[in-house]
Amino acid sequence: MKLCRYNEDRLGVVRGDTIHDISAIQDEIRSKARYDMRGDAVIAALPEYRDRMEKAADGAKGVPVSSVDLLPPVARPSKVMAAPVNYAAHVAEMAAQPHVTGETGGAKRPSGIQNQGIFLKSNSALVGPGEGVAIRFPDRRNDHEVEFCLIIGKQGSRVKKADALDYIAGYTLGLDMTVRGVEDRSFRKSCDGYAPLGPWMVTADEIPDPNNVDFTVHLNGKLQQDAHTKDLIFDVQRLVEFATEFYTIYPGDILFTGSPPGVSEVKPGDVMHCACNLIGEMGVKVRAAE
Ligand code: MN
Repeated sequence: MKLCRYNEDRLGVVRGDTIHDISAIQDEIRSKARYDMRGDAVIAALPEYRDRMEKAADGAKGVPVSSVDLLPPVARPSKVMAAPVNYAAHVAEMAAQPHVTGETGGAKRPSGIQNQGIFLKSNSALVGPGEGVAIRFPDRRNDHEVEFCLIIGKQGSRVKKADALDYIAGYTLGLDMTVRGVEDRSFRKSCDGYAPLGPWMVTADEIPDPNNVDFTVHLNGKLQQDAHTKDLIFDVQRLVEFATEFYTIYPGDILFTGSPPGVSEVKPGDVMHCACNLIGEMGVKVRAAE
């Protein structure tokens, strides 16, 4: 099942090029949820409500995907985690241009995800594909990083690799937008709009092996990142294990799995087109911040 959020906080099931409105179910789930729950109520309720969602979609009238503004597929993640340096070829391309990363001299951390850990992007950086990215520092280099993203389905701590897939509700695509420079990663990657997510969530049953997924981003029509999750250094299960060594994950939490090689600079006026045959496609426009 493909679940999207769109327009004024509506929930829909995506079938082909059509969205079937099931917002009434979203209203019911939210009305029963405790305000102080950790995580997103709709994602937490998926196991219980999924069959009803499918049935409601059968009877709901559809609107074309092209006629709506898509929002991020999760309304209230408790956190947005992101893996740095998780593809060997991306590690190499960044090491070759220290003037871009800003990591010249000083107390440089040892490289490798096992040493650098997972970082957090601000939840307030999340946007849907329709909102686009506003470049906040046009005088600095701003890069796109297209990434395969996990949506956590249930609470877990110290999750073992063998059990990790049980904790994933679904998958989506993300752009880990980045201002290059010397500040801490999470600061540079948390500007408003620097975490586009979409076009929707694909439930985990549709991608039984998340370590076997192709995805791409074209910048202004030119293929820029052409990736396969088999090349992840820490694969999907290991990432869940690693993250939960440090913190508890909650339904709706997002985990960006890391950027493949091919990152490049974006400027206002550019369009980033992300695609994955198992998920879908999204075009994200870049503009200048006000
Ligand atoms: Mn990244």
